[in-house]
Amino acid sequence: MTSRLVVLGSCGAWPEPGRACSGFLLEHAGFRVVLDLGYGTLPGLLRLLGNTTASGVDAVIVTHRHPDHMVDVHGLFRARWFGERGGAAIPLYAAAGVWERLCEFEEDDTEPLHRVFEPHPLPAEEYSLGPFRLESRSLPHFVPNAGVRLSCEEFVLAYTGDTGPSPEITELAREADLLITEATDRQQREGVPAPDTAERLDLTSTEAGGVAREAGVGKLLLSHFWPGNDRSESRSAAAEAFPGEIVLAEEGLELALPRAMFPG
Ligand SMILES: [Zn+2]
Repeated sequence: MTSRLVVLGSCGAWPEPGRACSGFLLEHAGFRVVLDLGYGTLPGLLRLLGNTTASGVDAVIVTHRHPDHMVDVHGLFRARWFGERGGAAIPLYAAAGVWERLCEFEEDDTEPLHRVFEPHPLPAEEYSLGPFRLESRSLPHFVPNAGVRLSCEEFVLAYTGDTGPSPEITELAREADLLITEATDRQQREGVPAPDTAERLDLTSTEAGGVAREAGVGKLLLSHFWPGNDRSESRSAAAEAFPGEIVLAEEGLELALPRAMFPG
């Protein structure tokens, strides 16, 4: 198995035609971790796995309970439960409310969910999963949101989920090889309803670039683009703040992991 990060979906809020919402597959050292599984991400995940039963997922991380980040976790559950019952439960590291939301899809009987997933809370003390150390921090959003940092011998990856500006992001992403964060940029489009709070609970790409610079990350992967936005405009805005490499998320895009190309 090559070490790579694959983008399953790059849209925020709801998916554009032919695209999906937030989701990433991280593969390293024979271990597969899924980071978020929003609207429309499951087909891309199954294509990468090469099966219809979601066989081969070792762990799932969900940053928060908004459906553009987690609704296809229920699809993953169905693929396991109806497609290939009986395997070991998949550890599911998730922010408050994710598990409850999954349970709501299941009417009264949540036993099948417990057979497919083993829930663990985020944020939390460190976890060890496969080759990774998983650290997490609470970041500001409309609902509880856990930013995550996955470290192994070869690289460090940080992912914010959705977050407003916060010094916690800089700590989460400190000198990470790769930071995945949002370029929600609602301000690019006219007529997008303003959030019903004055509190800042999403990042613009300019802010994403600023965080990347402050944290000293190696590479910035911008994602969670508002549907219809001009993504090159988001890149330019981030580049004003961050001098390093900026990559725009795209369904199916694969990134070789930092340092993984230079073993030893
Ligand atoms: Zn979102």
